[in-house]
Amino acid sequence: MSSIKETTLEINLAHLTHNFKYLKSKVADHVKILAVVKASGYGSDAVAIAKHLEKIGADYFAVAYVSEGIVLRQSGVTTPILVLHPQPVNFPKLIDYQLEPSLYSFKTLKQFIKITSLLNEKHYPIHIKFNTGLNRIGFGENDVDLVMEQVNNTDAVRIVSLLSHLAASEDHDERDFTIGQINSFKKITEEMSSKLGYNPIVHQSNTSGILNYPEAHFNMVRTGIGLYGYGNEAKYDHELKPVASLKSVISQIHRLEPGESLGYNRAFKATDFTKTATIPIGHADGISRQYGNKKGFVTINNKRAYILGNVCMDMIMVDITHIECKEGDKVIIFDANSNAAKIAEYSGTISYELLTAISPRVKRTII
Ligand code: PLP
Repeated sequence: MSSIKETTLEINLAHLTHNFKYLKSKVADHVKILAVVKASGYGSDAVAIAKHLEKIGADYFAVAYVSEGIVLRQSGVTTPILVLHPQPVNFPKLIDYQLEPSLYSFKTLKQFIKITSLLNEKHYPIHIKFNTGLNRIGFGENDVDLVMEQVNNTDAVRIVSLLSHLAASEDHDERDFTIGQINSFKKITEEMSSKLGYNPIVHQSNTSGILNYPEAHFNMVRTGIGLYGYGNEAKYDHELKPVASLKSVISQIHRLEPGESLGYNRAFKATDFTKTATIPIGHADGISRQYGNKKGFVTINNKRAYILGNVCMDMIMVDITHIECKEGDKVIIFDANSNAAKIAEYSGTISYELLTAISPRVKRTII
């Protein structure tokens, strides 16, 4: 059992192993698992997460930016790393660190071929991203011939994978749209594979795609949020185990008489006797101001304590009028029971945002 003395993000590697195995059990044996470890491993610790996943059999990693891939390489991660959204200015560094780009436009494809040719690279692994309805980044289905023209003219690069991203795999009422995305990607990848003369890796599913659309597993899946313990639906709450737990302590207890106010802008004014606990975590730690004024809560001795007034940079104050507790007692912002999805839903956001907001100054402990 851990004893918490300051704000700490605990990272539970046994839960990570459990989630990895669970997600792997949902796909056929030949399907590779790409672990998405961008945004510091969804706010946890990308290096600790990637090193552990490397040990237990992740086939690929993905980050959003080149800088994130460099951190992994510098810490000794050797598994292939896909950079989902690189900018051409960072291509030289990407190559230095043997990262693999997702190329999503003619500008990025041409630039990458130019730079790899200048460096006399042979068959540098590249990934071609197609847009099938998210309309964010990616080539269109009519770009196949032009993409092939570019790659056929060079041996500096080799297409190792074709990817696309689902827009609404967690929304059951968008099933028809998602099936449309899957069918459109199938068509594109069949055409590309026949023109390439070999079968590259093909991947489109995120966590909800893994869980809801077996027909979109192809031969690799990309999972992020599922690895960290969230499946977008309550039915997975028992199957997946939250990896990160954010905990803190009560610094001080105050008693407000009716008419007294609390915190900046006097945003909370007591109408009745109110007991409050001050906790050393604030918006600079990732607790957004949107959680202030009772839009967010923490758990103290198994009871919900709502945030009163405005969230400060380094502190929040919560209502403990009806909670037995004392200074030094443990405070749970989220853990496996009072989990980030529940708090996010209550506060009008999603677990992804709550998790990835936890700032670097919060101490991380691996358990
Ligand atoms: N693939 C891409 C391109 C993404 O941007 C993301 C996450 O945002 C993922 C996969 C992982 O998605 P999820 O966390 O829902 O599994």
